Amino acid sequence: MTPIGIVADLHVHTLASPCAYSTLAEMVEAAVQRGLKALAITDHGPGLQGGLDRFQFQFPTVLPKEHRGVQLYHGVEANILDAGGDLDLHGSELAALDLVVAGLHPGTAYRGSSTEEHTRAVVAAMENPAVRIISHPHNMHFPVQMEEVVPAAVRTGTWLELNHRYMGGSGNPEALTQSRTMLRLAAEQGARICVNSDSHFMAGVGQVANALALLDEVGFPAELVVNSGTLELDAAIRTPKHFLDPEVEERLVFLTENDLLDPDFLPVLHRGVDLVQAGIGKVLTGENAVMFVTHLASTVNRLCGKEPEFAELDPLVAAEIKGQAPSLFYLVDHLIALLDEQCPVQVTEVERLLFVAHVAVLAS
Ligand SMILES: [Zn+2]
Ligand SMILES: [Zn+2]
Repeated sequence: MTPIGIVADLHVHTLASPCAYSTLAEMVEAAVQRGLKALAITDHGPGLQGGLDRFQFQFPTVLPKEHRGVQLYHGVEANILDAGGDLDLHGSELAALDLVVAGLHPGTAYRGSSTEEHTRAVVAAMENPAVRIISHPHNMHFPVQMEEVVPAAVRTGTWLELNHRYMGGSGNPEALTQSRTMLRLAAEQGARICVNSDSHFMAGVGQVANALALLDEVGFPAELVVNSGTLELDAAIRTPKHFLDPEVEERLVFLTENDLLDPDFLPVLHRGVDLVQAGIGKVLTGENAVMFVTHLASTVNRLCGKEPEFAELDPLVAAEIKGQAPSLFYLVDHLIALLDEQCPVQVTEVERLLFVAHVAVLAS
């Protein structure tokens, strides 16, 4: 078996993080030297003591998509703040980023103290459609039940990180055991993992030798390592996490008001709302965007009896409508606001849910 290598490092920090010491340019240069094809910049979210201000995450388009031949992803390492999986960035803030890594860290508002609480927090964070990667789930500062975390990763399409820094190695045998348990269960259940350096200094970019040695030792399948070069990584990152099984999806497409009276079905609808808020900008561009907007507009028109005035929208949204920009989040937000606030007739909760569910189906 050929040893597994990595073609991308999906978790590094720059000088912008309080605990890191190299510039973005230095990190990219290091990636070039390591022969990496892609690098994700994932500085700490605002919930960490001294973390970035949330304002600093609002300019993903400032960063080029590629520099010195390395594809760049503008991301975040968000902080999980409670057992409900709340994060320190939300909705449109997360949707605007290329890649959302989330994890538990000291120095945040998180107050969980037991394995059960950490597990609940991590699983709840995975339910967030925006969260693509859970960072260092084998980190013994916050031990989790891998027997619950791994199947949740499979179900929600979230990737578990094998983190070079927190793997344990010589100093922490418990972390190494936990890493092994994670890999064994992931291999058995088909959970995808990614191997990252979590580097805070340029010399560490792409340096994951211990993690790769562990993968070899346990015979971990390369096809489950998302950054091993065995799958189209960019497409995998851009494709929204897919929560809905085909039966549920069909029911959503042909949704009736009766469905909305079914209490078992409401959680699915609410998940649809999350999908809209987190994933929509990742799938629709160009022609698709125009079709999508046309559809939404006619739905709004049907429910409100009012044609949305696109000319009045701010320039960003207008650009979205022309299919020029990659994210439709703001547009959907605007249309939902139209439903909520500007309709001459009262839009019932049922109608609103029908509309949002429809959007979710189109976006998923
Ligand atoms: Zn971390
Ligand atoms: Zn980190």
